[in-house]
Amino acid sequence: MATYTEAEIRKIVENIVKAEEAPKAAASANNNAPYTSTTYGGRKLIGIYSDMNEAIDAADAGYRAIRSMTVEQREKIITEIRRLTREEAPIMAKMGVEETGMGKVEHKRLKHILVADKTPGTEDIVSEAKTGDSGLTLTEMAPFGVVGAITPSTNPSETVICNSIGMIAAGNGVVFNPHPNAICVSNYAVDLVNRACANAGGPEVLVCSMDKPTLDSANVMQTHPKIRLLVCTGGPGVVKAVLSSGKKAIGAGAGNPPVIVDDTADIAKAGKDIIDGCTFDNNLPCIAEKEVFAFRNIADRLISEMVKNGAYKITKPQADKLAGIVLEEKTNKAGKTVKTVSRDCVGRDATVLLEKIGVKAPKDVRCIICETDFNHDFVQHELMMPILPIVRVNNIDEAIDLAVKAEHGNRHTAHMHSKNIDNLSRFAKAVETTIFVKNAPSYAGIGFGGEGHTTFTIAGPTGEGITSAKSFTRKRRCVMADSFRII
Ligand code: NAD
Repeated sequence: MATYTEAEIRKIVENIVKAEEAPKAAASANNNAPYTSTTYGGRKLIGIYSDMNEAIDAADAGYRAIRSMTVEQREKIITEIRRLTREEAPIMAKMGVEETGMGKVEHKRLKHILVADKTPGTEDIVSEAKTGDSGLTLTEMAPFGVVGAITPSTNPSETVICNSIGMIAAGNGVVFNPHPNAICVSNYAVDLVNRACANAGGPEVLVCSMDKPTLDSANVMQTHPKIRLLVCTGGPGVVKAVLSSGKKAIGAGAGNPPVIVDDTADIAKAGKDIIDGCTFDNNLPCIAEKEVFAFRNIADRLISEMVKNGAYKITKPQADKLAGIVLEEKTNKAGKTVKTVSRDCVGRDATVLLEKIGVKAPKDVRCIICETDFNHDFVQHELMMPILPIVRVNNIDEAIDLAVKAEHGNRHTAHMHSKNIDNLSRFAKAVETTIFVKNAPSYAGIGFGGEGHTTFTIAGPTGEGITSAKSFTRKRRCVMADSFRII
């Protein structure tokens, strides 16, 4: 697994900040070939099926092929997936933005490079041995077989490739039921994994997907006897569905990450870090900053630092008007009126969102900020847009109380800017999130400028956390009684 030098990390972070200029460069490097969910530039994508049962059978054949390979051969496939991902990141980044209408090309390119470099491979699978008076017991991490994976529209190809590396490293075959709004780019990534597999001497089809994924095809996947593990990355609806399937399931669900800034923080750095994190891929990552609780005595300074870093402050009436546009009222199955995010607004540029309320902002505006109270829709809903509400608080007790409530018990991600270790520890303990980032942009939590491996499947509800190859294994024990202890 590649690691970054400090200089490389600085460069990555600089790239993120200069994202407004970068898309032009990335776009010129892109291949503009036409594509569908089954073809790219007239070439048929490998591993794409019209029938979920056929896709599962093909993934099962892939699993059987991989079972007969050595770990070294598996690692060669993964090395080739990493190489092709780096090489074709600009294509997937451009396609992802085009197809979904969400996010930023340069940021998506960086996300693919992150996946290529920092997703663990076979080195993550480590056996354990226990010896004693009764002999030797070995515990090995075995594959499940065929994994059924459901992937989101927000990080579509990133999740397909990240899941594939981990699941293949663990020795599994994989069938995907990707998000219908991101099917072309998800299937491009499935094809990339299969091309890498064939280049490295593996089977032609190792991972599979659907040409037209639907809830019905997801249902076939969830009930098919050959599917031994379900891995779902998405919102609350789909996580609930797979956890009710009766199969072993890993659920990576929604978040609404709060940020606390207290009066010991480096306010200039906090303002910059929060805007950098919040605007990364237009706030699509589930870990990105979604609402800020700022101590009253530093709030003005923090807001001014945010504005210096590309934030545009709107008034309370403007915020209310925008909330009426980015959230839609719908009637749920129980007949209750609920607010859901407008798909036409998720992941859009701040300037595009501002235009919706009649504000023509300079092109370099990256984020919309506004002061609200705790009950405002912007605080309570996971928007996945570059809109950041700021709530003033009087002290750490109030900050923690409100931030924990805003996180809604997702136990996903939270952030804090502070130099007070008591405050940092108290919030970390109270919020109980899978990821807690201190004094850095949110993306440090997935290995971008922070230590540790990356994942795009953060499994809070089922507890695997920052998933990697070992999350997709089952433990098997082999016992040799009374022998093989050599001391
Ligand atoms: P989504 O929930 O709309 O869709 C996710 C996937 O689930 C799609 O493939 C969709 O087709 C499928 N799906 C939806 N309902 C289903 C059902 N009842 N049965 C089977 N499949 C179903 O998600 P999205 O909008 O693409 O992604 C955003 C959401 O995902 C946010 O809530 C975000 O926080 C979350 N997310 C979480 C993680 C994580 O690692 N925890 C990562 C990315 C996204």
